[in-house]
Amino acid sequence: MIITLKSGCSKEAVQELIHDLETTYNLDVFLSEGAEYTLLGLVGDTASVDSRIIESLDIVEKVTRIQEPYKKANRKMHPEDSIIDVSGVKFGGGHFGIIAGPCSVESREQVISIAKDVKAAGADMLRGGAFKPRTSPYSFQGMGAEGLELLLEAKKETGMPIVSEVMDVSQLPLFEDVDMLQIGARNMQNFTLLKEVGKLRKPVLLKRGLAATYQEWLMAAEYIMSEGNEQVILCERGIRTFETGVRNTLDITAVPVMHELTHLPIIIDPSHAAGMSRMVHPLSLAAAGIGADGLIIEVHNDPKKALCDGPQALHPEEFAALTKDVFAIRQALETAHKK
Ligand code: PEP
Ligand code: MN
Repeated sequence: MIITLKSGCSKEAVQELIHDLETTYNLDVFLSEGAEYTLLGLVGDTASVDSRIIESLDIVEKVTRIQEPYKKANRKMHPEDSIIDVSGVKFGGGHFGIIAGPCSVESREQVISIAKDVKAAGADMLRGGAFKPRTSPYSFQGMGAEGLELLLEAKKETGMPIVSEVMDVSQLPLFEDVDMLQIGARNMQNFTLLKEVGKLRKPVLLKRGLAATYQEWLMAAEYIMSEGNEQVILCERGIRTFETGVRNTLDITAVPVMHELTHLPIIIDPSHAAGMSRMVHPLSLAAAGIGADGLIIEVHNDPKKALCDGPQALHPEEFAALTKDVFAIRQALETAHKK
């Protein structure tokens, strides 16, 4: 339920109303003060709330019930775009962040050399998997805790914030110095993990499940947000369809749809969507053109020898060519909007 307040009402009156709602109905009340609106979002069992009584109050403009099951992630609850700040790198509300790095951390030399190259090409953040969700138990499973240590060294060396995938609640203590936690596609509905990262105050990159609908994806975000962590960035990484010609089908439509349904930023992962390095550049241009809030791209210094996802990894030079074109598209759109 959303209560839209009249413009110009006093802070004291707003606080009094919040207090009354919390004590009378035992609901969580969230104040959203935007440039144009002041809203109160009511989350919990709102069935017993008589909207006519609330509407009759002096400071209330209108009361709207939210039909969708996702409340805190709902744009109706927070009309302005959320800007998620990951240790100084911003996503959303016009901010476009580029994350790049290897699928998996393989050695100190590998991750530091890639980190330096992607930074020079314009990346804002470094990615690298330490715990890898592999289809086969016989494939390389990641370097684990040591991989995270090496990522932290690369962060120190380059100054770039880092993101890495956490696969299980038991691994969370190892991620204390990691700037953003990645919840992988296969874990999008690991509700225990979602609730635990919801208790932290750290940004979460929530990848879309291989067969998840928009609503299921937003409900996964809601699990994190309902625990108090509102710093969620969505990531479209391709979904499973009838098409077998590419690893996954990039659902580019997810960008404008998510911008309608939620205030959370959405970034595109063209690497896992395409599964082929030569598709990563054109898909990234589509992401920039359609208004995504960023990209996450796999880059390897020697893709042929990569221990994971080599066929979709870009050489650092290819990544540099990609960022150049992505920046050109963003610049062209900005110029056109100014006219
Ligand atoms: C990854 O980022 O390397 C990864 C495994 O991603 P996803 O969960 O999207 O498959
Ligand atoms: Mn990968």
